[in-house]
Amino acid sequence: MQNTPFENYKKRVLSTMEKSGMPKEYATPFLEPENIVEGNIDVKMDDGSTKKFKGYRVQYNSARGPYKGGIRFHQDADLDEVKALAALMAIKCAVVGIPMGGGKGGVTVNPKELSKKEIENLSRGWVRLMGDNIGVDKDIPAPDVNTTPEIMGYMLDEFEKINKRNEPGMITGKPLALGGSQGRTPATGQGGFYVLESLMKALGKKEKGTIAIQGFGNVGYYFARLVHDAGYKVVAVSDSKEGIYVPGGIDPVAAENLKSSGKRLSDYDGAQVITNEELLELDVDILVPAALDNQIREDNAKNIKAMFIIELANGPITPEADVILENAGVIVVPDVLANAGGVTVSYFEWVQNRSQFYWTEEEVLAKLKPIMDDAFEKVFIASKEKEISMREGAFYVALERLVESMKLRGRI
Ligand code: NAD
Repeated sequence: MQNTPFENYKKRVLSTMEKSGMPKEYATPFLEPENIVEGNIDVKMDDGSTKKFKGYRVQYNSARGPYKGGIRFHQDADLDEVKALAALMAIKCAVVGIPMGGGKGGVTVNPKELSKKEIENLSRGWVRLMGDNIGVDKDIPAPDVNTTPEIMGYMLDEFEKINKRNEPGMITGKPLALGGSQGRTPATGQGGFYVLESLMKALGKKEKGTIAIQGFGNVGYYFARLVHDAGYKVVAVSDSKEGIYVPGGIDPVAAENLKSSGKRLSDYDGAQVITNEELLELDVDILVPAALDNQIREDNAKNIKAMFIIELANGPITPEADVILENAGVIVVPDVLANAGGVTVSYFEWVQNRSQFYWTEEEVLAKLKPIMDDAFEKVFIASKEKEISMREGAFYVALERLVESMKLRGRI
């Protein structure tokens, strides 16, 4: 039987500690979350009935700061998955050195089966279920799969109504008018771009290679624009419907214009239509999964031809595929580093809310760069010095920081 996501996380913690020579007993506090809030949310449905949905919040580790992480509305969301995602948020925040711990929330629901009003009722119900477990100094949620800035607005409103005070920093990913941050939308793609540039520089690679990007949503699109403008050749992109391959290169803005005018990627001039599976196996220099988890697995990892993979999606490579890629010499920049631009700008949103002083998009993106550059350097050096993969290097950098905070608090 396949490992669950949380079992995979624990295996990575233990193997990183073992390979990097950290004392094994330090692992214990990182193998279970500090707190779990779980319960049923009663939702008033449009037909007058009341339906129950299971809601969760996993608060992983608070040694470096308040818990932080998104809330997912998905039919497959369960406690094991939310625990794994919360743990990875603790690692991600520590990799980029922001003063936040890890958390994640979820509701087991297929949001496509709910009306707009029912989703609002569910979102408000999730906040009531959390009670005083969330707040600007305790735990700061954000959007994740199927949750939006609009939903963050309902959640903020419910929290402020219950607590009778203004507290915009209790949640991030808000609409701009409610205290959201400039630059949050392009942040994850931008962070991924900084990381790619750092990798090429570290390896002394001057020529800009070819890139295939799986997923042309928020993250994939902004990343595509940045690499295109920097001189890389984006030869393939895909969405949930199809992929396209254009050996001469794709202009991401033109491709996005097609989509936003109701056309398809395959309407792109000179495009060869390919499947998502074929996109992953193209003969390109750099592969960028920016859509879903579990895309590169034991069964297709051996077919990957790219020498570099930048994981912009969360968890696109399974642990079994990791081993195959590592043995083939493929360098994988892991999700906890490559897509950490998103949580970093969420942290900036929290800082701006606390000071009630707001920055321009240029200021936000300029503040993001040194954080991503520094995180990349630390992870890259750790992976070289300890002779471990960049994923293990990222876990090592994060666990060292987490262990230090735990020790200074006398918790280990
Ligand atoms: P999005 O919903 O804007 O875009 C997702 C894209 O993936 C869409 O183009 C969609 O058509 C495509 N897609 C869906 N199913 C697919 C399939 N089977 N094959 C290929 N493409 C498919 O989402 P996003 O915000 O861009 O997030 C993408 C990934 O990045 C997710 O794994 C998310 O967890 C991760 N991530 C996002 C952020 C962020 O700030 N948005 C931060 C960190 C990590």
